[in-house]
Amino acid sequence: MPVKVTPRDVSADLADVKSVLVASCPVCPPMCAAMQKDAPFIELFKHGIKTPAFEEHIDSIRDTLTKRRVRTGTFTIHTPTPMMCLWTQGQRKRFLKRAREYDAALIMACDSGTESAMDALEETECKVVQGLDMEGVINATTSIRFPLVISMKPRRERADQGSGQNRPGGDQGGMADRDAAQV
Ligand code: SF4
Repeated sequence: MPVKVTPRDVSADLADVKSVLVASCPVCPPMCAAMQKDAPFIELFKHGIKTPAFEEHIDSIRDTLTKRRVRTGTFTIHTPTPMMCLWTQGQRKRFLKRAREYDAALIMACDSGTESAMDALEETECKVVQGLDMEGVINATTSIRFPLVISMKPRRERADQGSGQNRPGGDQGGMADRDAAQV
């Protein structure tokens, strides 16, 4: 089930690094960004499997870091599983190979995705910094329109401690509370 994620202020964590690999989970974070902007998650024939609302967020992080003369790169993998929380050993190795070239890896995923990244990089000097806070789970209604435009409308969110209870007026998707990268 998708989790709600919101941007975290990582400026202090990245203050002393010269290069950052921004590694994104392509599932919940793009869904949250799309719901926040009331934009499609996927428009296959327009943007492929990328979600523009989330790509803009990543670009803003990279712009901020570049202005501080920090070298940046991006990393996302979709196969065999797109979910960072379920990465195979092969995916962890691919991430390790890329991340070795950077001082830090900024993980755009929930706590579980960050755990996968930490596992992959545990024997390296690369600093793992989580770029998103996890705030609960999301219930949304998915719609698929021709030609392959996939959107989600959030219904309500459920915090861990409030499981099973209706929460009218809940937030609309993940990155709704704060809009810009805080690096
Ligand atoms: S790593 Fe977290 S954000 Fe990514 S799919 Fe798994 S639960 Fe969702």
